[in-house]
Amino acid sequence: MNSGGRRLSKSAYKDGVKCPKRLWLRWNQPELGVVDEAMLARAEIGQKIGILARGLNPGGGEVPGDSLSERLENTARMMREGHRVLYEAAFAIDGLFAQVDILFRIGETWGFREVKSAKTVNDNHVKDAIFQYHVLNRSGLSIERVELIFVAQETPMIEGSRVQDLFVPLDVTDICRRESSELPEAVNELLAVVESGEAEKIRAGRHCEATCPYLAHCFGDLADDDLLFAPSLDKRKYQALVDRGIHRMSEVPADEELSNKAEFVRRALGSGRVPWVAPDLGRRLAAVKYPAVFLDFETASPLFPVNPGMKGGELVVFQFSAHVLSEPGGDVGHFEFVDLDSDDPHLGLVEALTPVLSGAGSVIHYSAFEKRCLTRLVGAGIPGAQELLQKFLASSVDMEDFFKDGVYHPKFRGKSSIKVVLPVMVPGLDYSDLQVKNGGMAEMSYVAARSGELVGADLAARREALLRYCERDTFAMVKLFEVLVGLV
Ligand code: SF4
Repeated sequence: MNSGGRRLSKSAYKDGVKCPKRLWLRWNQPELGVVDEAMLARAEIGQKIGILARGLNPGGGEVPGDSLSERLENTARMMREGHRVLYEAAFAIDGLFAQVDILFRIGETWGFREVKSAKTVNDNHVKDAIFQYHVLNRSGLSIERVELIFVAQETPMIEGSRVQDLFVPLDVTDICRRESSELPEAVNELLAVVESGEAEKIRAGRHCEATCPYLAHCFGDLADDDLLFAPSLDKRKYQALVDRGIHRMSEVPADEELSNKAEFVRRALGSGRVPWVAPDLGRRLAAVKYPAVFLDFETASPLFPVNPGMKGGELVVFQFSAHVLSEPGGDVGHFEFVDLDSDDPHLGLVEALTPVLSGAGSVIHYSAFEKRCLTRLVGAGIPGAQELLQKFLASSVDMEDFFKDGVYHPKFRGKSSIKVVLPVMVPGLDYSDLQVKNGGMAEMSYVAARSGELVGADLAARREALLRYCERDTFAMVKLFEVLVGLV
């Protein structure tokens, strides 16, 4: 296998399988990658779960080392010394590199476990195990058992639980034995594409995942009316148009039938007006009743429950922010709530939100998420939640609808989320000055607070950061609303 002297890890291999350019960039221009805080937050959760799962094979030694060569040397040394359980043991052979979560002795042979921050298995997990098995097997280890470790479906709280009750193993030894022999050929095929220079030329397309760190780089050069940004464009139709050399909305023949959403974008772009404003926007905005309450919730769905009586993965609604606009162009008041302390934040949240919504003319929110939160509170049997949901349903105005088919700017690139729309419509207003910048960080903060990782001054500072983040969300809606009103 030729990888230009570099070793291919399982994550690099998976990158390459998804898109050879992604592997090419990872190796040649890694500085172009942008890893957002939400991805870092997910990686941090994964690390914590991995460490927790070590309790399944207790008493092992973590392989030390700052560099790959140190970790390889230390793995070999610790195995020679007779360690029966190793965490993060490292192996390299044939240009491939593997670091396994838990390696353990079974008599004269070995087994290993790969820990997943998930409750159900998918193809990627199995491919991971096959890759690791191949490297360990080629390195001369006799592997008797390979297990994927998942978070149990009905997880109890970590505190006071046996580690065996937190995880479930899945034996994938047979599939690893069966399919690992095909790996060298697949790796060679991939490296041939990457080394040929063809990978570098791959154009951004429907294969690009939102989590690819090179999205900004690859999408940066595309025109704002690239076909890739046409919303709800059927994959087959997209490919058929691209195969005909059509890459931009303006090149799509007028008689080509598109989805309603894509047709809307085509019409808006074709009008030449920036931003394009639907003729009925004024009528729709006039239907807003005052006082108008701009509402946003923050939530967490931790894999392991952090509150007694709740299940792992269950939605916890722990915060809201509400800006209240008294009348068109009138005063704006602000109300907020966050609870990082009680075992059930829902009770206090409903109590605090009830007076805010009771006098509302319209409740303005962004997307369908707020309805889901209120439905969750009703499902949890919180007194007063049913009345809140009814009030919400009777007065709900989804602001995202205005940006789905009422206003379009080419810089939206087919999207309508607030994170995309806000910097275009209200330049200068964003989240960059905040400590908590997105929902993922808010969720992490809640879990850290409830798990006792944040205490004292740190906890107080994070509470304040959460309040400012949620406040920014509803303030952004107020500003967007002002812009919308100014357009008609
Ligand atoms: S953005 Fe798309 S084309 Fe670029 S590296 Fe990622 S997957 Fe490949």
